[in-house]
Amino acid sequence: MAKYLIVGGVAAGMSAAARLRRLDETAQITVFERGEYVSYANCGLPYYIGDEIKERERLVVQTPEALRELMDIEVRTSNEVLAIDPAAQSLKAKDLKTGREYEETYDKLLLAPGGSPVKPPIPGSDHPAIHTLWTIPDTDTIRAMVDGGKVKKALVVGAGFIGLEMAENLKYRDIDVTVVEMAKQAMNVVDFEMASMVHREVAMHGVDLQLEDGVSEFTPGANGGVVAKLSSGKTIEADLVLLSIGVKPNTAFLADSGIELGKRGHILVDDSLKTNQKDIFAAGDVIEVLHPLTRKQTAIPLAGPANKQGRIAADNMHGAKPRTYNGTMGTAIAKIFDLTIGMTGASEKLCLSHDIPFDSVIIHPNDYAGYYPGAMKMCLKLLYSPETRKVLGAQGTGYSGVDKRIDVIATAIKADMTVDDLTEIEHAYAPPYSSAKDPVNMAGFVAQNVLEGLIKTVKWTDIETNPAEYFLLDVRTPAECASGVMPGSVNIPQAELRNRLDEVPRDKKVVLYCRVGLIAYQAARVLAGKGFDNVYNLSGGYETWNVSV
Ligand code: FAD
Repeated sequence: MAKYLIVGGVAAGMSAAARLRRLDETAQITVFERGEYVSYANCGLPYYIGDEIKERERLVVQTPEALRELMDIEVRTSNEVLAIDPAAQSLKAKDLKTGREYEETYDKLLLAPGGSPVKPPIPGSDHPAIHTLWTIPDTDTIRAMVDGGKVKKALVVGAGFIGLEMAENLKYRDIDVTVVEMAKQAMNVVDFEMASMVHREVAMHGVDLQLEDGVSEFTPGANGGVVAKLSSGKTIEADLVLLSIGVKPNTAFLADSGIELGKRGHILVDDSLKTNQKDIFAAGDVIEVLHPLTRKQTAIPLAGPANKQGRIAADNMHGAKPRTYNGTMGTAIAKIFDLTIGMTGASEKLCLSHDIPFDSVIIHPNDYAGYYPGAMKMCLKLLYSPETRKVLGAQGTGYSGVDKRIDVIATAIKADMTVDDLTEIEHAYAPPYSSAKDPVNMAGFVAQNVLEGLIKTVKWTDIETNPAEYFLLDVRTPAECASGVMPGSVNIPQAELRNRLDEVPRDKKVVLYCRVGLIAYQAARVLAGKGFDNVYNLSGGYETWNVSV
């Protein structure tokens, strides 16, 4: 009878335990979990604080009792693993309730201890109003403070996924929320113009987002609250502070184990998720993964990869059907108030930092047929290789349908598809769901047009960097221009362009723009047909420029 031990009883650990049971009815499977809960929905915690999820028990997906009964898995909650001895094939654990320390041997061991929120060494950060959100007890503490009615003002430090989800949910509880972020944008994993839409969304919902600033010190404030002093000199009073600035791997207990760790302390594994030590595997937030696009090792703490790694690790621990883990490219999504922001694969920032040649297009298609009631614009940015035409990444924002497009493009990247393949993806279409040419097809068409020289594009950043280099030609109607124009631009509506060609200079780079890029593309083709060869389309049009500057 095989004896499997698993350290960590949430995403990767429980996924592995359940898979092992399905593969081997006779195995002895024991899970060590230092917390009081197993298999809980950590991704749902912000929504319980915001009272979007009303019943606390919905967060607890499984209990040790149910796991024993249904799957014959022994889960030891409040049991922390203190050390591993690979030579003896054993671990040392401590029952946190009784203080008893004991050893347990294994045939195969899975390390799935996840990560913990980073707590920066900011003076004063041990104040009782300052919290992190990672576990159910964290959630209970924060929710009790909010339910108690004393939290009128909250400060969230860090504008990543969890920080912004918390900003939203605290706002739903009628709390004034300030978010402070050191970078010049929220959600650092996406490119600036996509994050700009998040900036606009949170501002529209009354969140005060302070970018390029950080907390330098906390001091006690009135009524049990704190005062945060920012690097800029500003001060912010808060009854509750949430630190949400990143995650570090839980690997301190492996210090003397001989298990190889990466530079930032993550466990190094091969493509079967095996560590450098015999019969020891690792999965989840605690490991370094291969990024399939950069071909470099990285850490991507997300629930989807953790769950899938748990399953693969279980298959390899069992051994009957070995599998490989082929890496994580960071497909992620978040709801920020009414806006969805999603991404997959490489961003512009990632390409630049890894010297990956890329080009990008930005489009603003409707989520479904424009004539069907309720259609909404989304923004889709597609990155691709100008050399191989392969799809490298995508980012999307919008009010519906973003998830579908990001998932389709994630699949395309996984399948090594080109932008030409995107133009041919056959999607399910009826007016309430999409257009006959889906946004994914559209992104492929535009990239194809760029690659084949039908259109040249400039990015909003090019204009901002070198405004004097360009003649900006706004081809919208005067009515559309009333909502705002780019400074220094000249308006010639597309319908009048053929009769006003003498107003368009031939000795300058002419950048055409309309609201989202489509009319400007048509106008650019008119100019190209009339012999203008220095004509560009502003990628993403006025919408992208306007939200980004
Ligand atoms: P975890 O789920 O963290 O589990 C590890 C467990 O190991 C912990 O319970 C810990 O107590 C235990 N442990 C650690 N050390 C020991 C030890 N020595 N002995 C015994 N037990 C130990 N991801 C998404 O993809 N989408 C989301 O929307 C999303 N939202 C999130 C929202 C919040 C508030 C949080 C906190 C995370 C969110 N995540 C989200 C991230 C996602 O939850 C993690 O990527 C995922 O849970 C990682 O799984 P894991 O099994 O590696 O680690």
